[in-house]
Amino acid sequence: MSVTRREWAALDRFRLIAAVLVVCNHTSPLASYTEVGNFWLTCVLARVAVPFFFMVSGYFLARSGWNNTRRLLKKALLVYAAAVALYLPLNIYNGGYSLAEWPRKLLVDGTLYHLWYFPAVLLGVVLVQGLIKLGMPAAFTIAALLYLTGLGGDSYFGLAKQIPAAAWFYSSFFQAASYTRNGLFFAPLFLLLGAAGFRWSGKVSAVGFAVSLSAMTAEAFWLREMDWQRHTSMYLLLPACMVFLFSMLLGINYREDRHARRLSLSLYLLHPWSIVLVRYGAKLVKLERIFIENSLGDFSAVLALTFLLSLALERLRPMPLSAKTRAWKEVDLSALRHNARILQSQLAPGCELMAVVKADAYGHGAAAVTRHLQKAGIRAFAVACLSEGIALRKAGIRGTILISGYTPPAEAALLHRWRLTQTVAGLEHGYALAAQGTVSHVHLAIDTGMHRLGISVNDREALLPLYRLKKLKIEGMFSHLCVSDSLAPEKVAYTEAQLAAFYKVVNWLKERGIHPGKTHIQASYGILNFPPQPCDYARAGIALYGVYSDSTPILRRLDLTPALSLKAKVGTIQELRPGERAGYGLAFQAEAAARLAVITIGYADGLPRELAQCGGRVLIRGKSFPMVGRMCMDQLLVNVTGVEDVRTGDIVTLIGRDGDLDIRVEELAERCGTITNEILSRLGSRLAVLYNSEN
Ligand SMILES: *Cc1c(COP(=O)(O)O)cnc(C)c1O
Repeated sequence: MSVTRREWAALDRFRLIAAVLVVCNHTSPLASYTEVGNFWLTCVLARVAVPFFFMVSGYFLARSGWNNTRRLLKKALLVYAAAVALYLPLNIYNGGYSLAEWPRKLLVDGTLYHLWYFPAVLLGVVLVQGLIKLGMPAAFTIAALLYLTGLGGDSYFGLAKQIPAAAWFYSSFFQAASYTRNGLFFAPLFLLLGAAGFRWSGKVSAVGFAVSLSAMTAEAFWLREMDWQRHTSMYLLLPACMVFLFSMLLGINYREDRHARRLSLSLYLLHPWSIVLVRYGAKLVKLERIFIENSLGDFSAVLALTFLLSLALERLRPMPLSAKTRAWKEVDLSALRHNARILQSQLAPGCELMAVVKADAYGHGAAAVTRHLQKAGIRAFAVACLSEGIALRKAGIRGTILISGYTPPAEAALLHRWRLTQTVAGLEHGYALAAQGTVSHVHLAIDTGMHRLGISVNDREALLPLYRLKKLKIEGMFSHLCVSDSLAPEKVAYTEAQLAAFYKVVNWLKERGIHPGKTHIQASYGILNFPPQPCDYARAGIALYGVYSDSTPILRRLDLTPALSLKAKVGTIQELRPGERAGYGLAFQAEAAARLAVITIGYADGLPRELAQCGGRVLIRGKSFPMVGRMCMDQLLVNVTGVEDVRTGDIVTLIGRDGDLDIRVEELAERCGTITNEILSRLGSRLAVLYNSEN
């Protein structure tokens, strides 16, 4: 019993009750039976509903460290826009608003009576975000004063207007808004109370709620007796009621229940349409006595219809596919940030990391990775080609984006349009770029011995005329090391010669009064195996992802963390009798009875096909199991003989950690005679990607 109670997501589910209370508010269920009872239900009890919604928003916003504020605002704005459209026919049918009325309706009152909530939550959240910067005590004080001001225009209006200044204030205010129950006077206090998340024991909360609700009842009836109420949304005791109610719900459980959340939103949004439809329908079938004149009949019909409409709406919702259905990558963004910091610490002062995010950030997802690194302070990125550069700009990436490969000069207009920095791959390339209709921003590639891209160090004289080309804005100069991954003496000597040749060109230009701009030459292994260089950038790729290319020895092994894990699932389990064979080519034969797990990932996802025959293995439930047979396009087999607890649906780790064990991508690369760069960058587009914030 206590377990099920704990699992009851009270906070979100109470939203359903709150939504029903709002429906009560607008249908007066008890009006046909008891006027006093109906007043209590709609003007006292039901008044907890909307403050509750504000409090839940405040609560979840605070729990997210106010990081979700923009998301909430965006969502509220979207829902509001949809609701405005939904009720437009009704507005028109009711005679519509004049052009002068629309701004006030849209921004303050809401375009139908229940829609005031949306402008209120939008304004309230923005205000509260500003208020909390002043510290909680100041924020609460201001919000409470605003609430008291609101009270004077609501339940206590009759009292407040006896003071001339107040009477003048409220009458001016009501020119601009219909009620003081809004985003300014009403929402901030409840958002803050929710954010504070006050919590007492169940007993204290229940007693507190009962006492404060009784006191609020007394307050409401007293105000009614005095005939002071202009409106009945705000009471002095409402905040007290709310904190006890909220504490009570928090005590039961504070998990999320998205289904209840969505349903309550639909109930809230749709019930005014139901009110209209029930009236219309009742007249049509001549059942006005039951469904219009009888308040309880009306309420029940409206509620039932709203539920039906909400459930219908629910069916229209998209059904997103879970990323963990078949095979997926998990990318730990904080590991990237950590690696960037470690690498940066290896650079000379004034030398910045240029993050190499080509090939979809080595399979890690270029947009998300680059966005994250940009937030972490990295301002320069390198990609391989034009399309990768454009994709990053479209993803909102600012700063320098260098295309490190060749781009046909005819595409110069696109380079210009997307503010991309192009590598000049050779003299001819430079002149061709300069002959286009737009200015190209470029870095010159200098060939110091790799003989792949760049202007040879021997042609340095030929560099001078390039600097005079009007359409070529040369902003940097770089070279690439081709054996910096090796510590063999002759390779080290070659790298040192490359470095020396590069600086010789740089200095030669400087002596001629030409500033070479941003210089860079190290990639990951240049950083790992050579001292800090007097450059402006170091272009780190593989090391940024926390991985070494292979197991060759390196000078400085850094504390890097692999960012990527590769996971799949156990599909079916096959029981083989002794001597039976399995898979393509019947490559596996069971010597004794065997149990094979079929894993839902294959070479079409980017795994090397030969891995299965080169000692490839996976982790399931913290244990290691060998791949057997031939890898299929979409599946592979592992031998789980003797381990009964491996079951369909288990998560399988192909790269990454499971319990005490881990499989590094270096291991896969070594088994297949390649480097990790290849394994990672080939991980296929069919894989879903999960970033650590979602894991
Ligand atoms: C790919 C690439 C890099 C990054 O190399 P890593 O070894 O992954 O750090 C740097 N510079 C150029 C020009 C590249 O093509």
